[in-house]
Amino acid sequence: MQAALLVEPGKIEIREVPIPSPREDEVLVRVREAGICGTDYALYRGELNVSYPLIPGHEAVGEIAAMGKEVKGLHIGERVVIQPNFPCTACPVCLSGRGNICPRKVRLGLDVNGVFAQYVCVPAPYVWPLPEGLSVSEAALAEPLSVALHAFRKSQPVPDEKVLVYGTGVIGLFLIRLAAIAGAKVGAVDIAEQRLAVAKELGADAIYRSAAEVEKNAGSFSIFFDASGVADAFSNIVNIAAPGGRIVLTGLPHKEFPLLTSMIVRKELTIQGSMIYTDEFPAALDLLKQGNMKIERLITETCPLKELARALEGFSSPERIKTLIRIP
Ligand SMILES: [Zn+2]
Ligand SMILES: [Zn+2]
Repeated sequence: MQAALLVEPGKIEIREVPIPSPREDEVLVRVREAGICGTDYALYRGELNVSYPLIPGHEAVGEIAAMGKEVKGLHIGERVVIQPNFPCTACPVCLSGRGNICPRKVRLGLDVNGVFAQYVCVPAPYVWPLPEGLSVSEAALAEPLSVALHAFRKSQPVPDEKVLVYGTGVIGLFLIRLAAIAGAKVGAVDIAEQRLAVAKELGADAIYRSAAEVEKNAGSFSIFFDASGVADAFSNIVNIAAPGGRIVLTGLPHKEFPLLTSMIVRKELTIQGSMIYTDEFPAALDLLKQGNMKIERLITETCPLKELARALEGFSSPERIKTLIRIP
């Protein structure tokens, strides 16, 4: 099969490699489209500790090409989206229903070969059949939408509540859309003008281009989602949050930063981390099927596998939101 291999940081090679064979409890997925995400970019830049060569990628849609003999309830040719994190299912964290933070979870495209290839093996419980009428490209957004939904559920706003979202990448934009659908008053913070324009289309009532601009205007925001990955966004949020404010952190900052502990105490802020997803995939597929997430504004480019390296090079350009890779 054709696969994109990361042979060392910054170096992708398209090679012929053997098609993997599924274990008894796995399915073999023929990949059709795969999204590029921040994790792939960090991996490409050598910021993550993995062994090379590695096939990167974890957001993918395709159809089942083969199944291990223990697999039930799925069939060959069925279109599926992949949930790309596989918890151990046996540790105390998993047994409490929080496999997303399992210390032993296996991550597709990081711990094992990923989806920028014609075929990939996935444990059967981690593929979800596509609802009828949902296109492959739409379903490719199910993974990032599940991430956003998991964060959103940590601090769901009531109608007219004021919500501020830092960062207008895919996760931030989905959070804006979810909050707008819930009837909240949504502000969006970013430096990229093009993405702020999309934030408005998705339902942001106010946009802010800098921390200073937010500070002048944002006294009454009570819920904050940080999807920016920017080191000082969190301290900015702690500074401007109204007393009793709730803060949800999703996405990992590029570097750590000091906490303003006294302000967290004085304002009695609630701070909640949010890591990927637990049981959000079916709800995400449902939302996509309803057609109200405006994903046509989020997919900014679809390109062939052989252009993966170029697409990764352009990852942080301000007009880019979600790039899909078409697998030959
Ligand atoms: Zn991702
Ligand atoms: Zn576990």
